[in-house]
Amino acid sequence: MPRPVEAIIDLQALRNNAAVAKRHAGDAKVFAVVKANGYGHGLERILPALGAADGFAVVELELALCIRGCEITKPVLLLEGFFDEKELVTASKNGLHIAVHEAKQIEMLLAARLPQPLSVYLKINTGMNRLGFMPGQVAELHGRLVSSENVREVVAMTHFADADGKRGVDWQLQPLMQLAEPLGTKVCAANSAALLRYPQSHGDWVRPGIMLYGASPFDDVNAEQLGLQPVMTLRSRMIDIQDLQPGDSVGYGCTFTADKAMRIGVVAAGYGDGYPRHAPTGTPALVGGQRVGTIGHVSMDTLCIDISELPDVGVGSEVTLWGEGLPVEQVAASSGTVSYELLTKVTARVPFIVRN
Ligand SMILES: *Cc1c(COP(=O)(O)O)cnc(C)c1O
Repeated sequence: MPRPVEAIIDLQALRNNAAVAKRHAGDAKVFAVVKANGYGHGLERILPALGAADGFAVVELELALCIRGCEITKPVLLLEGFFDEKELVTASKNGLHIAVHEAKQIEMLLAARLPQPLSVYLKINTGMNRLGFMPGQVAELHGRLVSSENVREVVAMTHFADADGKRGVDWQLQPLMQLAEPLGTKVCAANSAALLRYPQSHGDWVRPGIMLYGASPFDDVNAEQLGLQPVMTLRSRMIDIQDLQPGDSVGYGCTFTADKAMRIGVVAAGYGDGYPRHAPTGTPALVGGQRVGTIGHVSMDTLCIDISELPDVGVGSEVTLWGEGLPVEQVAASSGTVSYELLTKVTARVPFIVRN
């Protein structure tokens, strides 16, 4: 048997989640956000299950071309636009939609000779203070863009800083709509959290990412309550068992010391596979449907779990590290990170298995 760690990709769950996104979107169209290789799931693996999407959104030109290579003619949006003139020409040639967030991009776009005009998403900084133009610049930029023969249409775009949190979206939505309405542009703003919680933010195109992969964007509502199913299950098996006596410690740094007799399972998965090294003792895992906690530091190739209460499991028993039965959000929260990071960081040595 090969080393037993594997990532199962459940396309049925992905179809379900895409249908949930479509249902919430109503009349708005859905860009399925598949940047970072489909949030780590593998772009080409997941595209066949995203037929419900009206388009796709990525950050990387290579991924956009990969989508075109799969003979998908739907809109594909480059969320950060192009990074040089060559990319701009390639984007035009392939009929991609482009975001523009910075003055140099606009100058390049207006000056270029392009094979065909592009749909341009004018990114407006409404409070995230990451990418985009200030609201006061928008009317002038819009005027220059629409009069260019390189531009097919201009869409007003923004990104919400706290759609999953306390501030919500209205403080950013209001300035966006104040610009978009008089200009008569389409609106593209909502991420997963805004799509699920704020119908007033939907506009013409929504941009859900994390919910497609079955993780909740919220701390106070879980994925199951939202009707979402985990797409990736990271699992492995126990390859050794240790019986500890009181005073024995486990792993590098001897950070965990048993205060009683314990039975410890050694699982063939570690940070070399993408499991978070900072997961503290007690981070949840599943063995035979039972919740257990990790013990001590995570190593590159192994981690340890406490199976003192599970006499029937042993070497060879399957261990779920996240996914089916154990939301990745819970492992992320225990490890001081977010589901997005865990999903995108599964490493190349982990075999992926697709379930249709
Ligand atoms: C990643 C991204 C999204 C998707 O966000 P989720 O929280 O995963 O739904 C939407 N818009 C932009 C600009 C993004 O970069």
